[in-house]
Amino acid sequence: MKKKRLVILGGGESGVGTALLGKAKGYDVFVSDKGTIKEKYKEVLIHNEIEWEEQMHTESKILNANVVMKSPGIPEKIALIQQLIQKDVPVISEIEFASKYTNATIVGITGSNGKTTTATLTNHILKQELNVGLAGNIGDSFAKQVLQEDCKNYVLEISSFQLDGIVDFKPQIAVITNITPDHLDRYDYQFENYIASKFNIAKNQTKEDYLIFDADDEVITSWLKAHPVQSTLLPFSLVKTIENGAYLDKENIIITIDNNHIIMPTSKLALEGKHNVKNAMAASTVAHLLKIRKQTIRESLENFQGVEHRLEHVLKINKVQYINDSKATNVNATYYALESMDSPTVWIVGGVDKGNNYQELFSFVNEKVKAIICLGVDNEKLMNTFGGMVDVIVETQFMSEAIKIAYKVAQSGDTVLLSPACASFDLFENYEDRGRQFKDAVRNL
Ligand code: ADP
Repeated sequence: MKKKRLVILGGGESGVGTALLGKAKGYDVFVSDKGTIKEKYKEVLIHNEIEWEEQMHTESKILNANVVMKSPGIPEKIALIQQLIQKDVPVISEIEFASKYTNATIVGITGSNGKTTTATLTNHILKQELNVGLAGNIGDSFAKQVLQEDCKNYVLEISSFQLDGIVDFKPQIAVITNITPDHLDRYDYQFENYIASKFNIAKNQTKEDYLIFDADDEVITSWLKAHPVQSTLLPFSLVKTIENGAYLDKENIIITIDNNHIIMPTSKLALEGKHNVKNAMAASTVAHLLKIRKQTIRESLENFQGVEHRLEHVLKINKVQYINDSKATNVNATYYALESMDSPTVWIVGGVDKGNNYQELFSFVNEKVKAIICLGVDNEKLMNTFGGMVDVIVETQFMSEAIKIAYKVAQSGDTVLLSPACASFDLFENYEDRGRQFKDAVRNL
C-alpha cells in the first residue's frame, strides 16, 4: 500500500518532532522550510533519513500531501496554505497530529499572558506525584515526547497559532489564563477571531472535561455567555466567591471541587503579584482535579522558583532591587508588573510598539514610578505619553547605558524594573536576549 504523505512546513522544534513521529508511524515525510533550518535540526533529519529542503517551498512536493503540519509561525494567509486548503488537504498543527498517538491525560494551557508560568508551575506540582511531560511552546516538542517517552500526562502550553490548526484535539483539562488583544495582525485585526482561536481549546470538550478560566476577565465571561461550551466550568477569581473553582478569601486561596477544599495562604506563594495568585489558582485547580495531595500542592507553590525573564529578581545592589521582566511584551503583562511593585520604581520600557494603549498604566506610573528610561529605536510615543508624569524621563538605544542611568537615579530601597510592554526586535534578537543583556549589565555594575 502506498504510504500516506505527511508534509511539514517549518523545520523548527515542532516541525522536526512531527517529522520523527510521522516517520515512526509509517508516513512518507517531507520537511520544507522557506528560511534556513538550524544545524541541529538538519542533523536529526539527515540521521533519520527524512527528506527536507530549505530556503524554498517546492510546490510539486507539497501539494501532493495527504496531510500538512504547519509550524505555528507560518500565517494561514500565505498563498501556499490557501492552495492546500482549496485542494482539501488538511492543514493541522503539531498538537493535533501528536495527540492522536497518545492516550495521556492532557492539560492544555492557553491565554494571552501567563501560559509559560502557569504551565511550568502546573508541571512542577504534578511531577511530584505523576509521570508528566511539559511541552507545547516549551522545551522538547510534544510530538517528540510522544514518540520517545509517551508520558501518562502532558502539560501543554498552547499558543493561539497552534489552536488555529485544531480539528479533533481535546484536552481533558483546559486552562484559559486571560484574553487581551495580542497578535492581531494574524487575525485580520479582529479581536473576535483571536478570542475564537483561544476558545478552540474547549471546542471538542464534553461535560466530562474541564475548562478552568479567569472569571474576572470580561472578555472570557462575555464570550462564554454568547458561545456556551460543553465543558464543566471551573472559574477562578480574585474578587468574587466561587462555589466550584478557586477564589480569594482575604489572604487565602480557596479551591473547591465537588465540596472538597484546599486552603492556601497567599503569603506563602513563592511568586509575587496578583497575576501570579491567578496563575497559582489555575495550576492548583488542575492539580486538585488530578488528585495531587493537598500538602504536595501547598509545598510546590511555596518552593516554585519562577521562570526566567518573568519578574525575575536579579540582584540587589546598594539596597536597590533589579528585576528582569523582559517577557512583558504587551501592556497587560507590564500592568501586573507595575502593580506588584511596592517601592519607588525606575522603569525601563520600550521596543517595538504593537499599537499599545498605555492608559491603564497611568495610575501606577503616577503612584510608583520615579523615573522612566525608554529603551527602543523609536521612543517618541513613550516620551510624549509619559513625559508629563514623571520627573525624570530619558531615552537610550543601549541596555548598558540604560542600566548605568538606572543605577544613578535609583536610591536605597528603590526597584529597577525592566518591563518593556513592547516586542524586542528593534534592538535585540528576542526577549531572551534582551533579558540576558539586562542581567549582564546589572552584574557588571
Ligand atoms: P506567556 O507564555 O503567555 O507569554 P509568561 O508566563 O511567559 O506568559 O508571562 C509573560 C509576561 O506576562 C511576563 O511579564 C509575566 O510576568 C506576565 N504574566 C504572567 N502571568 C500573567 C497573568 N496571569 N496575567 C497577566 N500577566 C501575566
